Parts: sequence; C-alpha cells; structure tokens
Amino acid sequence: MSGNPNEIKLVNNAMSNATRRKIMNFLANGDRTVEEIGATAGKAMLDFHLKVLQQAGLIELNEGTASLTEYGRNFLKGKEEKEQGKGADLSQARPVEVTEVRQLLPCIADSSKFRTIANMAPPLGGVLKVLEPIFSRSRYSDGIGALMIQQNEVITTIYGTGKVTMTMIKNEEEARSRLENLKSTINEAIAKGVAPAPREKVRVEPMEIYKYLPQTNCGKCSEQSCYTFAIKLMGGETTLDKCTSLKEPGYTTNLEHLQVLSAYI
Ligand code: SF4
Repeated sequence: MSGNPNEIKLVNNAMSNATRRKIMNFLANGDRTVEEIGATAGKAMLDFHLKVLQQAGLIELNEGTASLTEYGRNFLKGKEEKEQGKGADLSQARPVEVTEVRQLLPCIADSSKFRTIANMAPPLGGVLKVLEPIFSRSRYSDGIGALMIQQNEVITTIYGTGKVTMTMIKNEEEARSRLENLKSTINEAIAKGVAPAPREKVRVEPMEIYKYLPQTNCGKCSEQSCYTFAIKLMGGETTLDKCTSLKEPGYTTNLEHLQVLSAYI
C-alpha cells in the first residue's frame, strides 16, 4: 500500500465496520482458518467482510486461512500507538508541587557541583511524554519511563514516579530555583496546553559518558580503556551492561546517570 487517497479510502471503509475490526484484532494473534474466524466474528456475510479486508491490503487469504499482511500488522500497530498516546493527555494531569529535596550529593563528574534528588507530586506518569515538546532539549524515554531535559551542563530527569534528579548543580539555592522553574513550566502547560518550544538537538559527548565511568581501565568490557568504551558506546558498538564494574554497589548513582545519558545517544 502506498497510502494514496484511493487506498486510504479502501482501508477506512474496511475498518469502519465492527465485524471487520473484530476480524483484524482476531488475526493480530495469529493466522486463522475461515471457519475459526466465522466462529468468533459471526458467519453472516463473512466472505464479503474478508474480501473487503483483502482488497484494502490488510489481510491475505491462502487455502482457507487468513493472515494479516505486513501492511495490516503495521496498521494495527500504528493504531495501538495512537491510542496509547491518546491515553496520556494533559486533561488527566493535576498541577505539581515540589514536595521535597531529598539529597544533595557531590556530583560524581565534578566534585565542586552537586547532584540533587527531589520529588514532585502528584506523579506525572505517562503524561511526561506529552510534555516533551515544551522543553527545547528534551527526550522522553519509554525504557526508563522518564523525561530528560538538558540545559547547558545540567541534566534534569523527571521520572513517571515523581522522582526528579538534577546533575551539575552549584548549590541548594540553584537546585530549588530550577525546580521551581520546572514546576511553573509544567503547571502552565497543564493549565493552558502544550506550547512547543523551538527544538534543539540533545547532545551527549564521549567525555560526558567517560566522566561517569569507573575510570579504572580494567578491560573487563574488552576495551582498552574506559574512554574507548565511552566512544564505542556513543557509536552503538557496545552496551552499558558490558561494563560490569558499574554493577558494584559504589557505582549505583553512576549507573543511573549513565542510563539516562545513553537514552540520549
Ligand atoms: S569495564 Fe568499565 S571500568 Fe573497566 S575498562 Fe570497561 S568501561 Fe572501564
């Protein structure tokens, strides 16, 4: 299917009928015989419904067995993603408050700076994904369920649970001021809707990765040095789990931050 207007019309027509939608969802779980489809979706006009789906390029029929075409599978996948996106809209969100600034630890990458761990309530959950466009340099990661925001050297990560981490903070005053700004920006979007900010590319340099690695050059990852590992990680030639040292208790916060950074790569 090329997506031309006539083909779109065929697909829309095919999917406008409840029986045909039922057939498509049934086939999403695997190929079925026409008999099995009839037992689930009803036998009335079954041949007609199957023909309409076939003409729309959504299914194929082969010796009494129906299966989704690649286009049909992609169509259902796209629909599901759209519905998930719809599920997380701002109307479900309530204004947030910074409830606590739990820790202010020396930043691993620069001991003159701090790493802040705070909390925002109520938790924003999947709504964070919708908020991504209001920040110029940001990315939502489905993998860790968090929105990462980059402002100069400061990386703020808001987790769906309400936890917020900020790196490279000068002092508590800066932390509180940034958290208040963040809260106001989010609450404005919740009250007035998302106003997309001009997009800028999120940038992560190998040195930024290196700063959070153990820097022991132990070679357990099969690389000559931690810096080589950082470069290969940036290039997608290795993965974070290859650095087994990061699993040691002393590197828990390094690992957490590296997971955030690698979601930007
Ligand atoms: S395993 Fe980790 S600490 Fe060891 S060289 Fe590789 S990146 Fe560095």
